[in-house]
Amino acid sequence: MNTKLSSHVTPLRFSVIRSMLERASAYENVISLSIGEPDFDTPSFVCEAAMKDAMKGFTHYAASWGDPDLRAALLEAERAKSGLPWQGENLLITSGAMHGLLAVMRTILDEGDEVISPAPCFSDYLGHCVLAGGRLVQVPTSFDNGFLPTLEAMEKAVTPHTRALLINSPCNPSGIVLDAPTLDMLAEFAVRHDLIVISDEVYDSITFRGKAESIATRPGMFERTVVLNSFSKAFAMTGWRVGYALGPSWLMKEMVKVLSYSVASTGTPNQRAALAALTGPKEEFEAFREAYRRRTHLAAARLNAMPGVRCLEPAGTFYLFPHIEAAKGDSLAFALDLLDKKQVIVVPGFPFGPEETVDGCVRIACTVDEEKLAEAMDRIEDYLKNR
Ligand code: PMP
Repeated sequence: MNTKLSSHVTPLRFSVIRSMLERASAYENVISLSIGEPDFDTPSFVCEAAMKDAMKGFTHYAASWGDPDLRAALLEAERAKSGLPWQGENLLITSGAMHGLLAVMRTILDEGDEVISPAPCFSDYLGHCVLAGGRLVQVPTSFDNGFLPTLEAMEKAVTPHTRALLINSPCNPSGIVLDAPTLDMLAEFAVRHDLIVISDEVYDSITFRGKAESIATRPGMFERTVVLNSFSKAFAMTGWRVGYALGPSWLMKEMVKVLSYSVASTGTPNQRAALAALTGPKEEFEAFREAYRRRTHLAAARLNAMPGVRCLEPAGTFYLFPHIEAAKGDSLAFALDLLDKKQVIVVPGFPFGPEETVDGCVRIACTVDEEKLAEAMDRIEDYLKNR
């Protein structure tokens, strides 16, 4: 029997986080700082609205472009947020931003095309590129430069195969927000090399020092940028799988084909839930953000007080990406040993970027309450002092 399978799939490995969790199942009293999802449940008013709408008959396929009411509400919200003149032809509802990422890669890439992304960057981007026949090129940055990309490093990464620039601000895993001069530089760079820009903005409402700007607002960007966003993080709705893409009509009218041939449409009651979240009261979502701000601040301060640890104070998200001397050379061995000795799960830094950038780094998700987080910090401190 010929068991040969697609070379786009078989080289991909299962996520490091999943294997850490499997190992952790042997222990009791584990504190997991590994999973990139809110620990809060979706507010009940959102669940109730979805159930009510399902009872009313919102149980059929939605249009491929998405539920009309959700689309209308999103267009209004997005126009107000960025001031950009988004129209219906620019907006596509996706099954989470994961689906948006894969769909945009499949739309723009041919075999061997390259996507460049400043690193550290979300580890799953590799899979999205490879599944679409492309290649992800992670561009090095440095802790000392606040993980901000430089023009010099970006220029070095460009080849005749480069088709797109992929950015993520606020950033998983570093928690940084790209500042205005960096966005200006990247926009000018993308125009000069005639690149499509994919801007992953799933954490744009989880910021602690003012708003995160979209690169789509920069000159020349509206016609070449696909913004990806999602209800997962901002509204604690990871399991509902609702996201969206905003982009130029020449690209979106092709991208909708990928969506239509893959999922046909995103779940209808789920889209109604997203509509309720978007148009309902904001207090609970603001409280989530405040919790992330307090937690990341607490954990960064604790980490910076530990021997051999340096941590940037995040400007958004719920992640920290500290540099730990003891993790240098092998962040996986460090994470496994920390789990075995202290039952704390952190994610080794290596899947997030090239060695020169991420050596010694681990990702910490502040998705447990403050008490547990403080306990996790005590354990890490103890581990570092006694190893
Ligand atoms: N982009 C980034 C940077 C993320 O961290 C995640 C989730 N971990 C996603 C996209 C995907 O989010 P979702 O599919 O739940 O919308």
